[in-house]
Amino acid sequence: MHGLMQYHPLLISGLIEHAAREHGDIEIVSRTVEGPIHRTTWAGIAARSAQVANVLARLGVGPGERVATLAWNGYRHLELLFGVSGAGVVLHTVNPRLFPEQIEYIIDHAANRYVFFDLTFAGLVASLAPKLPSVRGYVALCRREDLPQTATPIPNLLCYEDLVAAEATRCAWPPLDERTASSLCYTSGTTGNPKGVLYTHRSTVLHAMAACTVDGMGLSALHSLLLATPMFHVNGWGAPYAAAMCGAKLVLPGAQLDGASTYQLLKDEAVTMTLGVPTIWLALTGYVNARGLDPQRDLKLRRVLIGGSAAPAAQVEEFERKFDARVIHAWGMTETSPLGTTCTPKATHRNDSLEERVALQAKQGRPPYGVELKIAGEDGAGLARDGRSSGHLLIRGHWVASAYFGGNGSPLLDPDGYFDTGDIANLDHEGYLRITDRSKDVIKSGGEWISSIDIENIAMGHPAIAMAACIGMKHPKWDERPIIAVVKKPGTELSRDELIAFYEGKT
Ligand code: AMP
Repeated sequence: MHGLMQYHPLLISGLIEHAAREHGDIEIVSRTVEGPIHRTTWAGIAARSAQVANVLARLGVGPGERVATLAWNGYRHLELLFGVSGAGVVLHTVNPRLFPEQIEYIIDHAANRYVFFDLTFAGLVASLAPKLPSVRGYVALCRREDLPQTATPIPNLLCYEDLVAAEATRCAWPPLDERTASSLCYTSGTTGNPKGVLYTHRSTVLHAMAACTVDGMGLSALHSLLLATPMFHVNGWGAPYAAAMCGAKLVLPGAQLDGASTYQLLKDEAVTMTLGVPTIWLALTGYVNARGLDPQRDLKLRRVLIGGSAAPAAQVEEFERKFDARVIHAWGMTETSPLGTTCTPKATHRNDSLEERVALQAKQGRPPYGVELKIAGEDGAGLARDGRSSGHLLIRGHWVASAYFGGNGSPLLDPDGYFDTGDIANLDHEGYLRITDRSKDVIKSGGEWISSIDIENIAMGHPAIAMAACIGMKHPKWDERPIIAVVKKPGTELSRDELIAFYEGKT
């Protein structure tokens, strides 16, 4: 017997309508590629998202077709995020940092109809256009007076602000099936061509709900969120949808992610929470240290979500000590929307000291409701949750991919519906995940696996080291041994022997 509760499809248009209705006055602040800071609100974004949907209809882009963006985090990109998907069209956020040949490959593979681009990418678009037969036109995200003049003219060049201005600020959002495709991100993966992960409205909304839970990302209406993760990296880790859901203020940094620019935005916009990869935070802390700044006096930052690669312990500690901010280490991937785990404390950690908090954040955390993890040995059998038994990390859940877009049909999931992440990890008795390696990077030494991440993290703990990379080298006796390559901080001295001595007692 079915229950008697209402059924409404989970749709991205519902998120932006909710944002306009319930927290329409909350600000969206963008550093534009043209230079100035731009201010709007969730109500403003909602109105312009409706205009975007109307633009697509006028351009003849139909349901299920794909349009691409080559853009930084800014209000226009945010409008496209809601307007394109809301209209039943698929938003393909292209990573402009890929090689031009890869960008050509994925725009062609996705058969994109239009490419919306920031002025920064005008040259790239002009050079790629002759090789992109599926694209009918290119929309510059700017006003008419700022339209780009490239050496080779961009064919069928349109002006975003002109297109938007011609449309009504309301639209009839289509009542889509919640499993309709909403957005598309390609992941470079380990081998072969990039692969497309095709999200659904349902997976996106459920993921946003998880992000808004206290132990998910902990995003709420109390936060001013600096989105340092680009929207072309797994839709900005899904945070824009989550912010629309809970009514957080969004701060979008555009193309400038250097330490000085980030610090300025954190300060001016009273940012309380931010998320991004460790490299961004290295730039920020480097700037703070070089200038002798006092973040506790200048900033309101309390929560820093770090993911994309392992958060170095030294970085976690620096945020605690210098910023009085809690780091939440997170793990995920393009195929998992990306939220797989967040390292939020359980009650057993309530009274943890600073040292214990830093030690806990060496782990990638635990899964929210909605995804399940499994660690499998070489024979596929599940391994013990003892914090030591490392194996292949498998995941399944509401926002995990089931196949690649336009893939060759080979099954992506095992018979139980799990996706093999390609990561090597263990789980402890409390369910905290610890990633020890990518399966392709793992160093097999004398029959044991050595974690390249651990070796890198120890080096990163040395005060003279800015960056570290560990790789396996063939060895006649041990099969493989780890070697570490490091970049020293400017003005520091460190010899090979001093670094090796630093490892004493730490492995
Ligand atoms: P991508 O699909 O480009 O986001 O890459 C996903 C991969 O990044 C994962 O499979 C991991 O290998 C790595 N990764 C993401 N977050 C972390 C983390 N917190 N610690 C270690 N590796 C991570």
